[in-house]
Amino acid sequence: MNHTTSATDVAVVGAGVIGLSIAFELARRGREVVVIERDRPGQHASTVAAGLLGTAALPLGEQDDIYPLKLDSLRRYADFVASVESASGMDAGYRTDGTLWIARDATEDALLDQLNEERQQRGLDSRRIAAAEVQALEPNLIGDLVSGLLVDDDVQVDPRQLLPALARAAQASGVRIIEQQAVSHGDFDETKDRWALASGQEVIAECSNIVVTAGPWCDQIARPTRETNNPLAPSGVGPVKGQLLRLRGPGLIDRCIRTTNIDIAQRRHGELIVASTKEPEAGWDLSPTDEARDELLRRAYGVLPALQDVELEEHSVGLRPAVDDHMPIIGSAGRPGLWIATGHYRHGILLAAATAHWLAETMERGETPTMIAPYGVDRLEAQPQSLEAAS
Ligand SMILES: Cc1cc2nc3c(=O)[nH]c(=O)nc-3n(C[C@H](O)[C@H](O)[C@H](O)COP(=O)(O)OP(=O)(O)OC[C@H]3O[C@@H](n4cnc5c(N)ncnc54)[C@H](O)[C@@H]3O)c2cc1C
Repeated sequence: MNHTTSATDVAVVGAGVIGLSIAFELARRGREVVVIERDRPGQHASTVAAGLLGTAALPLGEQDDIYPLKLDSLRRYADFVASVESASGMDAGYRTDGTLWIARDATEDALLDQLNEERQQRGLDSRRIAAAEVQALEPNLIGDLVSGLLVDDDVQVDPRQLLPALARAAQASGVRIIEQQAVSHGDFDETKDRWALASGQEVIAECSNIVVTAGPWCDQIARPTRETNNPLAPSGVGPVKGQLLRLRGPGLIDRCIRTTNIDIAQRRHGELIVASTKEPEAGWDLSPTDEARDELLRRAYGVLPALQDVELEEHSVGLRPAVDDHMPIIGSAGRPGLWIATGHYRHGILLAAATAHWLAETMERGETPTMIAPYGVDRLEAQPQSLEAAS
């Protein structure tokens, strides 16, 4: 190690939605923050994502453990977006038109009953509607639907607007973003009582705190030995490949349409999102496949036939960061000044607001708030990690 480029209070490793949200929050609380990003900010899963921010989700039961955090984040989202927009002067692409779940057969009809019941039990609004009302609300959907579930308080955000706005907001609040610099390892310097983050032989940052937010790559950041099996902040996180389509055409739907196997969202500027695959067995593979594209289109056409006349603009792939239990990891990484936020899996855009708030609180208070107590890294220590087993 031979060169120090930056000395700071907090160094955040990774400029996805989680790293940037935390950096922005910490800067707003008066902390001095540097973000170090291997590529460009928001280049990976965070800008591939659909940006659906609903708390209603299928399969039922799967969400139980993260429901409180999802709800907490959803409730913070409007303020989060407002502060990003105000600090950046940019539109973050936030829409509050709600979600319409649709049932195409008796099985899906029963599932929507359960989803509705689950929401009522949690004190959340939603309303079962008959096929005729579904048709009146969204006339471009197929005619032979069984019923719908209207969730008016679901929102969406366009990650391709949110991420640049977040980066700008963070910078406007004093955050320095270092791009195209991969952190290879980190070390605690006892003599200086500070952490050092390095890229190969070069020290990029000396800091009192490191926040590891490198998505599925978190465990590739090593202790000084640079052995791959010796991560700086071990989390057991890994990739779950997702493929998603972007089409461009006239407005076809007024709210997000969700089913058991396909989601369709409309952006204000004419983009339609068809989401998405879940491929835990694909590992680090980032190639778009014809099979996935054809299957996503087949399912989407089956719900919204007019999509067949809309141009397919982009087929993208992202790696969701996930651990075995599909819950995020937020909090201390087991050593003073070492923090981690990853594993947000299918909900990182939604959970960014709560993650930033609660991690900043933890760092400030020096203890873990109740809200994020279930998401500590210690819960995984007893379990062997294998994503394939969890799929
Ligand atoms: C197809 C698809 C659809 C999705 N839809 C939704 C949705 O509708 N709603 C929702 O809430 N979520 C959704 N998600 C999930 C969401 O995208 C993720 O949970 C979220 O983006 C994770 O953010 P992150 O910041 O942890 O990781 P990432 O976005 O992966 O960011 C990590 C960053 O760390 C950087 N990095 C890695 N290693 C290093 C290093 N050594 N040094 C420096 N930098 C490094 C990377 O370059 C990257 O920029 C979707 C994901 C996919 C793939």
